[in-house]
Amino acid sequence: MSVLNEILEANKGYAKEFGDKANLAIPPARRFAILTCMDARLDPAKYAGLSEGDAHVIRNAGGRASDDAIRSLVISYKLLGTKEWFVIHHTNCGMEFFSNDLMSNLLASSLETAELGAAGFKDVGQGPGSNEGKYINWLTIPDQASSVLEDVTRIKSHALVPASIPVYGYIYDVSTGSLIEVPEATKVGQAR
Ligand SMILES: [Zn+2]
Repeated sequence: MSVLNEILEANKGYAKEFGDKANLAIPPARRFAILTCMDARLDPAKYAGLSEGDAHVIRNAGGRASDDAIRSLVISYKLLGTKEWFVIHHTNCGMEFFSNDLMSNLLASSLETAELGAAGFKDVGQGPGSNEGKYINWLTIPDQASSVLEDVTRIKSHALVPASIPVYGYIYDVSTGSLIEVPEATKVGQAR
């Protein structure tokens, strides 16, 4: 069963209540950006109190500072005026449960969805798979505080990121909804 019809139905209701949002400007009104994980339990609009037009939210698996996330952040400040950035990873992230090797082995086995059991991910597909997975760095997360620090460091040391932008490092706790600071990351990320 596809969710297509449910989504289109929900959108009709949203568009009906759209109000004056047609007048929003392109630059984020509150001039900040969040880089966070795509995890379905995280809703940055709710956990950070955002409305449409407020901020840029860049999401990928893990909320990692990949080349593409940095591309978005550079556009965010250079063309659209954001002045503060957050890197927010989270507890119980799926990116903690596999390695580059495991992921490429799962994909080499089949292109079907793997199963997550007590012993980790296991491929249950029929195959064939593909060996292309070994050419991608999946940016897995062995430890959240380290991954936040690594990503804030990567962003701050990028040649196209000005020293004046502070980058705050946080972990979202999926069991409480709270944001917990990673002080070493925020320290590396401070504006200079
Ligand atoms: Zn995650």
